[in-house]
Amino acid sequence: MLLTITTTMSQATDLGFLLHKHPGRVQRFEQAYGTAHVFYPDAEEQRCTAALLLDVDPVQLVRTRGRGTPDFSLGQYVNDRPYAASSLLASAMANVFRTAMRGRCDLRPELVDTPIPLEVVLPALPCRGGPGQAERFFAPLGWDVSAVPVPLDPDFPEWGDSRYVTLTLTGTLRLADALNQLYVLLPVLDDAKHYWMAPDEVDKLIRAGEGWLAAHPDRGAITRRYLANRRSLVQSALGRLADAEDASDEELDPVEVEEEAPAAEDGQAEAAPEEASVSLAELRLRSVVQALHDENARRVIDLGCGSGKLLARLAKDEFFSEISGSDVSHRALGHASRRLRLDKQPRRESDRVQDVFQGALTYADERFRGYEAAVLMEVIEHVDPPRLGAVERVVFGHASPRVVVVTTPNAEHNVRYEGMAPGAMRHPDHRFEWTRPEFRAWADRVAAEHGYRVRHVPVGDDDPEVGAPTQMGVFTR
Ligand code: SAH
Repeated sequence: MLLTITTTMSQATDLGFLLHKHPGRVQRFEQAYGTAHVFYPDAEEQRCTAALLLDVDPVQLVRTRGRGTPDFSLGQYVNDRPYAASSLLASAMANVFRTAMRGRCDLRPELVDTPIPLEVVLPALPCRGGPGQAERFFAPLGWDVSAVPVPLDPDFPEWGDSRYVTLTLTGTLRLADALNQLYVLLPVLDDAKHYWMAPDEVDKLIRAGEGWLAAHPDRGAITRRYLANRRSLVQSALGRLADAEDASDEELDPVEVEEEAPAAEDGQAEAAPEEASVSLAELRLRSVVQALHDENARRVIDLGCGSGKLLARLAKDEFFSEISGSDVSHRALGHASRRLRLDKQPRRESDRVQDVFQGALTYADERFRGYEAAVLMEVIEHVDPPRLGAVERVVFGHASPRVVVVTTPNAEHNVRYEGMAPGAMRHPDHRFEWTRPEFRAWADRVAAEHGYRVRHVPVGDDDPEVGAPTQMGVFTR
């Protein structure tokens, strides 16, 4: 099976730096089920193509079946796996292009974050649901999609098409994003449903999906297929996606799992969508709003406001008279102002929104002052520990509002998320996740140093053993 990636950026051969594979070489990488080859059929300044050719040994595949093979969908010596680019190819990609997928390139660091013109071709991709399904999954990510069905046998056109397509994706994207999208979506399009589930499968999905999956209109369907409809894994993944999503433009929606009814080819019904439940993100919003009401704090600044979910909630509540938000991320602020329709006239709810501005919590800023309350909702865990002291001084020392509300994950609760490796964190950008005693110790010290009192409120299902998923500290001066 074959995957080619072509770029026409200037100095196209720099693709070799991004992939960490030299354009002048042919390399081979042994896999558990065959051999992956990387080579460049084309390496010119104007156009460069890298090819990943995976040569699957079906005998080896069957022998290693169940022992860490990512796919044992067919326990037969004769099967389509050697030709069908799906989970085996994805697994080889993860192995061969690991550093590129993590978005690291020490020799051309500026290229990593630069969207480049790309063309990705997969001559034979199993595509359950037909060409439209490929379009549905890839187009929202910014790709021009061509999915041409492969006839079952060109000599017998009356037999019709196979379930394979030739997929060509054209677009201008970061290479790491493109690779991660393929890594997730190739097996998802195959939807073989029986592939082997590693214990950290949800972690892998969250990591590979960073920056694109949470906001994908089909994230529910993608997650369900990727996790082979394993209900508890799917629930855990969707919860974490909804939770970690800080840059989505969509409206707030307390329903985590959306409807999907793909035609089940094998006559077997897809697992029913999970019961609509109130997401942790929603519970957190409600708890923060409640705490602000309880403390009678009407003038509020949301520090690290992200895409503005809390701001939108405060704007709808007449209790709050003055609302501002700040974040260090321009991109997040763009989402926030679209969500709040700050650019639209006439403004209605947003009239009480004073200011949404860029600012870093590690630097004292006059604009943070003058509010009754400051909220840091799911922010501190994004701050490198050595800089946390600066954030404490800025918020509790310099801005020093009467009330500070802080929420952060409770690391103890992570064992309740199925598919999460021990010691893993919920989001790739988290610098730490604290247990309840760790958060308490931090909160008590900060309160004592700056003249506050703190009360602790669990958010979400308060498990008798490991506590609630989110912990909230309400500081009052
Ligand atoms: N409070 C939002 C977003 C949480 S994600 C919510 O709960 O939905 C964490 C946010 O903190 C991100 O938007 C990130 O850009 C912001 N952030 C991280 N470090 C920051 C810093 N030093 N200064 C300001 N914002 C920061």
